[in-house]
Amino acid sequence: MKVLVVGGAGYIGSHMAKLLVDSGHSVVVLDNFSTGHRDAVPCNEVIEGDLGDRDLLDEIFSGRQFDGVIHFASYIQVGESIEKPDRYYRNNVANTLTLLEAMHERGAENLIFSSSAAVFGEPEYVPIDERHPKNPVNPYGASKLMVERMLADIDRAYGLRSVSLRYFNAAGADPDGLLGERHDPPIHLIPVLLQAASGRCQTVKIFGHDYDTPDGTCIRDYVHVVDLCKAHLLALTYLRQSGKTDAFNLGNGVGFSVREVIDTARRVTGQAITVDHTPRRPGDPARLVADASRAREVLGWIPQYTSLDRIVEDAWRWELRQPRLW
Ligand code: UDP
Repeated sequence: MKVLVVGGAGYIGSHMAKLLVDSGHSVVVLDNFSTGHRDAVPCNEVIEGDLGDRDLLDEIFSGRQFDGVIHFASYIQVGESIEKPDRYYRNNVANTLTLLEAMHERGAENLIFSSSAAVFGEPEYVPIDERHPKNPVNPYGASKLMVERMLADIDRAYGLRSVSLRYFNAAGADPDGLLGERHDPPIHLIPVLLQAASGRCQTVKIFGHDYDTPDGTCIRDYVHVVDLCKAHLLALTYLRQSGKTDAFNLGNGVGFSVREVIDTARRVTGQAITVDHTPRRPGDPARLVADASRAREVLGWIPQYTSLDRIVEDAWRWELRQPRLW
């Protein structure tokens, strides 16, 4: 296949580009490098540019025939989305609309969209299946739900089919050790813990320990980045075999509390990680755990790296390859 990976220099996008290349597919990456890294892109054809640049998109789609487009380019920080909602609606919603217009007008087909568990908001029950009500509680989640809605309408009107994949907590790193999560400063729990273990940062703050959970900290469903990428490949195959527009939850169906993740990071790294308690972070639900049965049944998704130890081990291998500051 020939696949356009939009946002292919970011964390999940770069792992996706590598999986495609390793599986023998041809990949073109479009990225504006606002948060991604040029040296993370494991393919030859890299286009530097913005998703909102309609002329550039027209040029990309008129010169090439793609079997599918995988769209990762978005801002992902819940807190920032509350402070600067316009940035999120511009980048995540308006720019995706520009992509959809360009795809439709140039006859491009098969879109896989990075959605999020944030579309559900505060869970009414767990594990969360696809029928769960969608009431996002922050602009980030709202931006993802708006795109899902646009995708359904665009398919109804023009027949441009798509799959939205709602990630729970993406984590881990390339088992070959070539790629990993590189947000600077780190924003997600596991990289924060591993940077503390390696000495790149100091105390880790636990955001809230008064939740209604067994140890008082939030529970999340951590899913290995490579398993997520494999779901994208399966979703693309599904669309190419005339699958209908749909959305699927992706997670392992097992929740770990922040304290359990800290204990795992201490065990895997063999390092003491000092932690501190701070108040809750706004917009954090107590529990987010996926029911991914539909992805298994419809797409044939079988996650491979399901243990938290394995996820943390792969992320730790990547952390140990990062340049030290001393
Ligand atoms: N968390 C924490 N300290 C940190 C980063 C995260 O206590 O430095 C908690 C966060 O409140 C949430 C869980 O760890 O309950 C996972 O957060 P992360 O930012 O990794 O992903 P999110 O669930 O927000 O997508």
